[in-house]
Amino acid sequence: MKTKPKVGISACLLGENVRYDGGNQSNHYIINELSEFVECVPVCPEVECGMTVPREPIELVGNPDSPDLLAVNSRTDYTEKMRKWIEKKLLLLENENLTVYIFKAKSPSCGIREVPVHTKEGIPSAQGAGMFAKAFMEKFPSVPVADEETLNNPAVRKHFL
Ligand code: SF4
Repeated sequence: MKTKPKVGISACLLGENVRYDGGNQSNHYIINELSEFVECVPVCPEVECGMTVPREPIELVGNPDSPDLLAVNSRTDYTEKMRKWIEKKLLLLENENLTVYIFKAKSPSCGIREVPVHTKEGIPSAQGAGMFAKAFMEKFPSVPVADEETLNNPAVRKHFL
């Protein structure tokens, strides 16, 4: 039997209840169509780095090129916790030989573009990529990436696949 290509996917898109509010972002296309042809490798950076479910939402703060990751209200700083986990996770993913990666749009951890970066006072002032997605794209520049919003467009989806 032919080996299925491995696809990294934000775990909430596969229906896993890992979001800050205890829910998911289950995506019909990924779960009911794509997963028949690929082997899904679910990843939730926030839960895997030690955050709880549910949890306080987090946001990117500071320098848009290298923002910190802070809780929205308490301002608890998760930057180092996430950085350390990312370092280890990227080494593990090297062995997975992922063909593509589908990220959750707009997430401060998983978004690949247009994720708001805030001032210390919490005001959106720029846009960037989520902390894990940015590190993944820098480490694996030849792995194509998309988010579920991009794949809503059938033409883009066809081209991507
Ligand atoms: S967007 Fe990423 S970090 Fe947030 S719940 Fe989904 S997989 Fe976890």
